[in-house]
Formats: sequence, structure tokens, C-alpha cells
Amino acid sequence: AQHFLGRIGAHGALGAFVALDADVTLAQARAADEKLAAGGAPALTGVPIAHKDIFVTTDFPTTAGSKILAGYRSPFDATVVRKLAEAGTVTLGKLSCDEFAMGSSNENVAVPAVGFDVAAPVRNPWDGSRIPGGSSGASAAVVAARLAPAATGTDTGGSIRQPASFCGVTGIKPTYGRASRYGMVAFASSLDQAGPMARSAEDCALLLSAMCGPDLDRDSTSIDRPVEDFSRSLSGTLEGLRIGVPKEFLGDGVAPGVRAAIDAALGEYEKLGAKRVAVTLPRTELSIPVYYIIAAAEASSNLSRFDGVKFGHRAKDFYDPSNTKKSALEQMYEMTREEGFGDEVKRRIMIGTYVLSHGYYDAYYLRAQRVRRMIADDFQQAFKECDVIAGPAAPTVAWKIGEHGDDPVADYLADIFTLPGSLAGLPGMCLPAGFGENNMPVGLQLIGNYFNEAKLLNAAHRFQ
Ligand code: GLN
Repeated sequence: AQHFLGRIGAHGALGAFVALDADVTLAQARAADEKLAAGGAPALTGVPIAHKDIFVTTDFPTTAGSKILAGYRSPFDATVVRKLAEAGTVTLGKLSCDEFAMGSSNENVAVPAVGFDVAAPVRNPWDGSRIPGGSSGASAAVVAARLAPAATGTDTGGSIRQPASFCGVTGIKPTYGRASRYGMVAFASSLDQAGPMARSAEDCALLLSAMCGPDLDRDSTSIDRPVEDFSRSLSGTLEGLRIGVPKEFLGDGVAPGVRAAIDAALGEYEKLGAKRVAVTLPRTELSIPVYYIIAAAEASSNLSRFDGVKFGHRAKDFYDPSNTKKSALEQMYEMTREEGFGDEVKRRIMIGTYVLSHGYYDAYYLRAQRVRRMIADDFQQAFKECDVIAGPAAPTVAWKIGEHGDDPVADYLADIFTLPGSLAGLPGMCLPAGFGENNMPVGLQLIGNYFNEAKLLNAAHRFQ
């Protein structure tokens, strides 16, 4: 813990940590030392980890990257945080992320990092002028920069897999329902999942086993199925493994350097005994409008709890007595949200409110739900012909900070390869596959059928 705190201090310019408290971290580390000395301590005892600031924690403040949660301190730990602590981890601090996990670049940040006066995008350790990806951008950046051996992330539409790809680290999002969402600040509840980001599939296996498991009393979508010890599944052979490559995942929109790295990785898999088969996911493109309707709809509902009454920020001097149309309470809600939410969050709330409103619900929300079902069915068709699906996690390498400017749709379109698996609730992971344009990392995405995390981790481990 001391070693990593030192590195975190030396590399503060990455802007990755939004909360640090050396006293808390070192107290946890001393307790771990005592447990190790006593013997019989669990496998992760003393292993330092940093948590995405979307998980609530008692020992550190929680902001979800938003001004609206300024000053908020949770009275309980998220289940994932608690389970990792029970497995022995030591918390290094909290990590920056896109506000409420809405974003693909870690540029939608409203909370200044430790040592900064103003909020700034997290930097990619491979090239500080580029984004680390998002929304778990800082989680990927700290593992890549060796500021932490492991970090937690969350993935609603790709937020573990895409930053893993952009920073050259390994990350896995389990089957929807495997990891408890209790204490994860909610963005889109039917999609949100937690997962680990680390240097290898082996590390991810250890962490994922500790993070997952039923939490039926606290999360109504938690699945009642015991977790496996994923570490024990890392010795399987790849002989005969059918790797399905959807033709839609290697189309014209993919950068040549990314395509070359993916092709080379698939070639390596063939040398390891796997078979490459062509499959199709015909509704890949539709996953973008479908996701951005459903995720916005759920976000607009989830974020209604941030009203200045129960949590965090409340506007001051909100009352204008000359405004006879609105009560003092309504004026307080309005000004709190105006001040507290960033532009992208407001955009999603407006889109979500619109698609759920009377007269538009059938045309947008209901139709999106129908296509979501078809996307899930397409995967089941594909899995008749293959054991895992492979392709890039993103069409390009990490772009420059500011490159997408004020065009949110440019970010949305870049999510095309992670959204289908998210909409279907399937497990997905990303592992380093080589380098593409500008010598930036390229990740190989592997998608498995429900509960096939072990298969994914084994395939990634054999490759590494
Ligand atoms: N980029 C996607 C979005 O902005 C996914 C984010 C995520 O997975 N949290 O919604």
C-alpha cells in the first residue's frame, strides 16, 4: 500500500484519483498485516485496490463524478466493496469517472482530482494527450500506470471493456445479475454491472470470484447462483474452441490498425488450437439507438432522487418570491439540478423523460425494448455455431482529449461493439491484443453466453 501511495503521489498529473486518505489506507494495510501474521487469511489479504467513485464507501466520500453529490458520505459500503474488503483488499482511494458513468472518454467529469483546482479529463498513461476511455477511464489508467494492481469498474454499455482496450489492461463484466448493484450509484438499472480491471485474466479471476455472488435481500435483480472459484478454471485447453467473429464487428468503420491487431490475435488463437468461425449479429448497428433510448429512460427515472433534499448539494438562495408560478420547493429542485448536473447528464434526463412520456412511449421506449429482445436472440443464434464471440471492443484506439468536441453522438457511435452484449446481459471481457494507430493499445473483446465467465477468463489466460 505504501509503494502504491508513493506512485499515486508521483503521478498525480494523470488526474485519476478524486479521493485519497493515506491514514485510512495504511490502517487497513496494518490490519491486513496482522491477519497475515496470524495465518489463514483470505487470498486477497493486503492487496491494494482502488474503487471507481460510483461505488459508495463509508471510508471515503462518494461523488459519482457529479457536483450534485458534493460532500456526500455513505452510511454503508456497496456490496462489491464490502465483499472485496472481506476478501482482504486494502482501499487506496476513489477513482474519477464520467459523471454518473455516462460517457466514453472520462471527459464528462465535474469533480476535480486530488491536487487539481478544477475538474479535468483523466489522461491515458500511454499518451497524456489522449483519453483513457470511459466511463471507468481512471480505473483502466491506474492499472496501466501501475498506480494500483487492480481497480473496480462498472459497465453499463462498455465502460469496463472500452477503457481496458484503450489502456492495454484486462477487464471483465460478468453476466447481468452476478455482481450485486447494491451501493452502486444507479445509471441504467437493467444494464449496470460491476467488474474488476487488472493486469491479467488471472488477477481478474481472483477478483471476480470475490466480487460476485447472490445478494438477494439488497438487489432484486441479483441472481441466486453461487459464484465459482474462477481461478480454478484457468487451466482448460483451447483445442477445438470455436471463436465466432461477427462480420459486423470487422466492417469498414474499424481502423486498419485495430483490424490488424485483432486479426493477429485471432491468428494466435488458431495456433493455440482454437477454430475461427464466421457468425453474424445482424442488429449490431441498432444497438446504438436502442441503448441510448433505454439507458436514458432508466437514467431519467434513477436520477430523480437527486433533488437537493436527501443527498449532497442543495442550491443556496434559490427562492425568488417574484416567481409566482413556482413554489419555493420547485425552485429549490430546479436550481439544485441546474447547478449540480453536467450537460451530458441533463441531455440524458431530457431524452429519457421524452421517450417515456405519453404519446412517445410506444414509438420509442417500447420499440427499443422489442429490438433489445431481438438482439439477445441474435446472440443465441450465433452461440449455436461458436463457444465465444470475439472482435474489437471499439472501432479505433483512444482518441485525443477534446477530439470529439461538443459532439456527443461521436462518443455514442464509438460504443457500437460493446452495446450489443450489454443489451443482452451477456458476460464480456477485454484483454490486450497489441497496438494500433499511433502505437496505442488495442483490446480484444470476448463475449460469452450467460454464466460463461470461466470460459472467457480461461481463453484470455491461455492467450496471455
Ligand atoms: N458510453 C456509454 C454511455 O455513455 C456506456 C457507459 C457505461 O458503460 N457506463 O452510456
